[in-house]
Amino acid sequence: MSAGEKGAGEKGAPAPAVAVCASCPRRCRLAPGALGACRARRNVGGRVVPEGYGHLTSLALDPVEKKPLARWRPGSYVVSVGSYGCNLACPFCQNHDIAQAGSGDVGWREVTPDELVEMALAARRRDPRVVGIAHTYNEPLVGWEYVRDCARLAREAGLANVLVSNGCACDSVLGELAGLVDAANIDLKGFSDEVYRACGAPGGALDCVRHTIETLAADPACHLEVTTLVVPGLSDSEETVGSIARWLAGLGDVTYHVTRFFPRWRMTDRAATPVSDVYRLAEVARRSLPHVYVGNC
Ligand code: SF4
Repeated sequence: MSAGEKGAGEKGAPAPAVAVCASCPRRCRLAPGALGACRARRNVGGRVVPEGYGHLTSLALDPVEKKPLARWRPGSYVVSVGSYGCNLACPFCQNHDIAQAGSGDVGWREVTPDELVEMALAARRRDPRVVGIAHTYNEPLVGWEYVRDCARLAREAGLANVLVSNGCACDSVLGELAGLVDAANIDLKGFSDEVYRACGAPGGALDCVRHTIETLAADPACHLEVTTLVVPGLSDSEETVGSIARWLAGLGDVTYHVTRFFPRWRMTDRAATPVSDVYRLAEVARRSLPHVYVGNC
């Protein structure tokens, strides 16, 4: 049965509608009441709604360098918020306790966009180094409506908007956020479908993430940085990092982070990336890009 199609229900009563989520390439087909693979979106009455809207599991004041953003308003701070849910399942996820959780699995408190903007303004009154709000920690774009609504209000209030995302979102989602993101850091897990399969991604994820990066790079109002976690045996080859860097170089002024892996969650079968490997791979990237940073070293 296709989305919205009527089936055999009670005589005269329409059958509850199946709904297809168009937010990411997984395109979850949700029976009435069902939760998407990200655990953050649900079919309610035939419509896919963001169940995690305003449900914050994490709230902190972070330096922008922690996002990481190396070349955007250095020395400034952002009120950083996260909810629950993610459309990937990277076995090395450092935030799996919230990213792989749904509403009933983790503690959260409701914060409306108005309340969040007011919190950020209050933080800025206390410390003028606070410049805006960052959506981060879990995957923000599985709840893009909250990001959009907060970003609109924040922009009106003179605050900046930061997005830290895996970039695996459909074009319609990027369209909703167009012109609202002042700075973004997008994870690029690797440069092959194999790496994305290891992260539990749906087919087409790499192309989707590349499109997100291209879209943000083409937005003159958005400062873009990209991060690759170099996981031994998965994404730590010079070929991978070199290919990524050459591709990013063609997109304009993109800052690139090469960061060190530590064993986490389901990936404890290998040691942390040797620091020397991270520095060597950063040098490989610098053959193509002027702004390359190492992380977690
Ligand atoms: S955003 Fe969530 S519900 Fe929507 S298609 Fe992706 S995984 Fe499924």
